[in-house]
Amino acid sequence: MTAKHPQPGELDPIETASRDEISALQLERLKWSVRHTYDNVEPYRKKCIEQGVHPDDLKALADLAKFPFMTKSDLRDHYPFGLFAVPRNKLSRLHASSGTTGKSVVVGYTQSDLSNWADLVARSLRAAGVRPGDMVHNAYGYGMFTGGLGAHAGIERLGCTVVPMSGGQTEKQVQQIMDFRPDAIMVTPSYSLVVAEEFERQGIKPEEISLKIGVFGAEPWGQGMRAEIERKLGIDAIDIYGLTEVMGPGVACECIETKDGPVIWEDHFYPEIIDPETGEVLPDGEEGELVFTSLTKEAFPVIRYRTRDLTRLLPPTSRAFRRMDKIVGRSDDMLIVRGVNVFPTQIEEQILREPRLTGNYQIVLTRDGHLDNVEIRCELQRDLSGTLGRSAVEEISRSVAHHIKTIIGITTKVNVMEFESIPRTQTGKARRVIDQRPKQL
Ligand code: ADP
Repeated sequence: MTAKHPQPGELDPIETASRDEISALQLERLKWSVRHTYDNVEPYRKKCIEQGVHPDDLKALADLAKFPFMTKSDLRDHYPFGLFAVPRNKLSRLHASSGTTGKSVVVGYTQSDLSNWADLVARSLRAAGVRPGDMVHNAYGYGMFTGGLGAHAGIERLGCTVVPMSGGQTEKQVQQIMDFRPDAIMVTPSYSLVVAEEFERQGIKPEEISLKIGVFGAEPWGQGMRAEIERKLGIDAIDIYGLTEVMGPGVACECIETKDGPVIWEDHFYPEIIDPETGEVLPDGEEGELVFTSLTKEAFPVIRYRTRDLTRLLPPTSRAFRRMDKIVGRSDDMLIVRGVNVFPTQIEEQILREPRLTGNYQIVLTRDGHLDNVEIRCELQRDLSGTLGRSAVEEISRSVAHHIKTIIGITTKVNVMEFESIPRTQTGKARRVIDQRPKQL
């Protein structure tokens, strides 16, 4: 999909700066951020003292590797405000993570943090091909989740018209898109498919939908899912990445002209990839856990925050900053099935090789004695549902199971169901895995 989007517009000068200029800015900001955290966040200062490092030891970017990590459990241990670096009355806003993987964590923003965030979402939208004056339908959930309000501020900052729709009420989403004729949509990839199905149900064709660009994030989605969304909505589908602890959406975003992985806004976030077992920093290009250090955040600075997201750092292409590869998954999403490590996105890729299936799927894990059983629930596209013969359905099931076996290496039972058999997410992230195996003690 390249036809409908406008030409790239004005960029921030730093987006085309030289590597030396970027590194110099990063070092200056990194020194500030580490000292600010050390001086104002007592639990982190304690960690530094235990590890025998001091902000004065930071003379080059590589010296950051000497500093201790921050982890999700640090955030939970100091819930709610224990890691904030400014007094409570300097906070303009609080947010919390949606708690996909446990108790929620709370983060805060000063006025300046909120302004930087809006700038970075605006920059992300510009990279995605959205332009001032466009109308953007925002279907990320509003509330404590960073998606809705984070996207909202960036849409306004770019000079666009925001439609603050939030998630849910799918019929109304469709009606509003048809009535208002927005140019772009921001939404989770799984909910975008729910909206696309509602268009289909109402007999509205992709070319009748005004949307040209979709900016999708908050959960992992593969290239197969991108193709499915682009086909069903007739848009360019762009990947935006972020997480509550580091800021929210807009830490990195793909460029529409290359669609080759989110560009990390390195002037605000310093990325590292580490070996998740040893904590050692890995060279660019090697896969490991993504770690971020915030360079400008006042209220909730993070130093070497372990995201648990697994990816690689890639060289710059359409901007001067490095990119990240599409996220394979989070280390805590990884399933170990009969000893094989599997990410839901790998299964998703294999399902979406079959055009007769939708991108909705679930992985159900059960245990028989000592053996793990994996059932993959997937479903037929609407127009085939109820009409495809049994032998064709069995053939799809065998072929998907075969691809999963040969490419991922696990035996699965692929259950091809009728359209809409799998529950849809109404607001946020899809629930892909149902693990019914007894907990190991
Ligand atoms: P929670 O941790 O409760 O899900 P967040 O909304 O902060 O709350 O989720 C951030 C996480 O969502 C990231 O760490 C990552 O795992 C996932 N995520 C966000 N954007 C993307 C993306 N574009 N691709 C893959 N995963 C993403």
